[in-house]
Amino acid sequence: VPLATFGPGAVEIPILLYHHVSASDGGSRYTIGAEAFEEQLRFLAEHGYHTVTVREVAAAIRAGAQLPAKPVVLTFDDGNLNTYTEAWPRLQAHGFVGVVYVVANRLGSPGFLSAAQLQELASAGWEIGSHSWSHANLTTTERSQWRQEIVGSRVELQRALGPGVESFAYPFGAVTEEIIREAYEAGYTSAVGLGPSIVHDRGSLYYLQRREVWGNWDLAVFERLLPDAG
Ligand SMILES: [Zn+2]
Repeated sequence: VPLATFGPGAVEIPILLYHHVSASDGGSRYTIGAEAFEEQLRFLAEHGYHTVTVREVAAAIRAGAQLPAKPVVLTFDDGNLNTYTEAWPRLQAHGFVGVVYVVANRLGSPGFLSAAQLQELASAGWEIGSHSWSHANLTTTERSQWRQEIVGSRVELQRALGPGVESFAYPFGAVTEEIIREAYEAGYTSAVGLGPSIVHDRGSLYYLQRREVWGNWDLAVFERLLPDAG
């Protein structure tokens, strides 16, 4: 893998966001069919992209890092079971790793990842982040609840999984300056939201923008998410 120096300071790395990967349906905003998903992974592999984690992006911004010359981050929100059953084996086939943002109070519920499955992903090089306690939109949630959503979720995930939950994903990407400060003060090393930018720097460590991949796009639309795809 050809390496390049990223950071310290601004780095240019696309961070993509998926929700459901499904073998039986797909073609909607939040659910991509397994075949279309595989096609995207094949595209990334054939064009020389290599996956990195959000933790690595944050470290590169802070201190600089040697990363694959064409890095991309694949994130999966909500802790859906199909991240394990459908996404993981397909990433594995390409030597890719992902980042999963787990809603803490859904841990082990039907349709969602269990602690054992998350530990398996972590052992395979995936990063596990918090996607809040209850997936509440923090901008419309009483401030007194923020601590449980932001800090409590991390405590619960680390109780179940061990240390290493370093990144937070704001539900719906919804924030205020005060919410961003809360994520910082909670001890996360980064936090992610939504947005088109693939350039990240110290000023965006607590709102790293992610480009959402809709499940009903064809490959030509997906390609536009990536720089230097040629
Ligand atoms: Zn979500």
